[in-house]
Amino acid sequence: MRIAVPSKGRLREPAIELLQDAGLGPETPGDRALAFPCRNAPVEALLVRADDVPEYVQDGVVDCGITGLDIVRERGADVRELARLGFGACSLQAAVPEESPRRSLDDLRGARVATSFPRLARELLSEPIELVDVRGSVELAPRLGLADAIVDLVSSGSTLRTNGLRSLGTLLESEAVLIGPPEPCAEAVQLAGVFRSVVDARGTRYLMLNAPEHSLEQICALVPGSRAPSVLPLAEPGMVAVHSLIPAADVWRLLPELEAAGASSILLVPVERMLG
Ligand code: AMP
Repeated sequence: MRIAVPSKGRLREPAIELLQDAGLGPETPGDRALAFPCRNAPVEALLVRADDVPEYVQDGVVDCGITGLDIVRERGADVRELARLGFGACSLQAAVPEESPRRSLDDLRGARVATSFPRLARELLSEPIELVDVRGSVELAPRLGLADAIVDLVSSGSTLRTNGLRSLGTLLESEAVLIGPPEPCAEAVQLAGVFRSVVDARGTRYLMLNAPEHSLEQICALVPGSRAPSVLPLAEPGMVAVHSLIPAADVWRLLPELEAAGASSILLVPVERMLG
């Protein structure tokens, strides 16, 4: 099977790391490599520009590919999203200079909008708008008098602020995705499942703690998630061990609360895979 992987830019390293964490054993590619094999699976990775991945998938040159959702939507390629990959998160936002009287996305009617995402801007903004097609340094366009507003990718928002721009709102939330043709091959569907199990596991921690039996109810109420935790008796009378999966994002808030509720010997370990 062939998979297209971004050859450079911010999606390259996390994409290769995902192949690694999925257990495929990618042979570390050199800077100039165009392709690399995997040790543990009959998978060949082709390194191509993130912008070109939808085209390669659509044309059947590869069986699937990793790229940004923004790129997939902008290209309008006839491809199917097989999995969200949990990295490369950013949003496509519209922004105006601080001093602009425009306050909302609707206020962009009649504006000149500079962007390198003309298709998405047309699709997601209310007409009429005049598009100014620019490639790089989109943020400069208003200052140069080229445009009244921009539509561009934002992650932290610091580039907007540095350039004296204020966001009017988000047009699209993006992250890296695995895409395939409308009728993907069985291997691509299987790989999507493996990637999903890795992505889910990365966002999860396995929590173990000891607690007096009388605080069990309070501790179980604190542990989020739909599944009941496992409760195991300990050799010490009146004490139990509680094991549960928790979202990694909740850890910082949860640990002090669990301690305050009487939990001790709290252990938190990473999860490698989550299936089922
Ligand atoms: P690059 O090849 O580094 O230009 O990466 C382009 C892709 O990275 C974009 O199409 C997005 O999917 C993703 N990305 C994530 N965060 C950002 C960001 N702050 N600015 C631009 N692209 C981003």
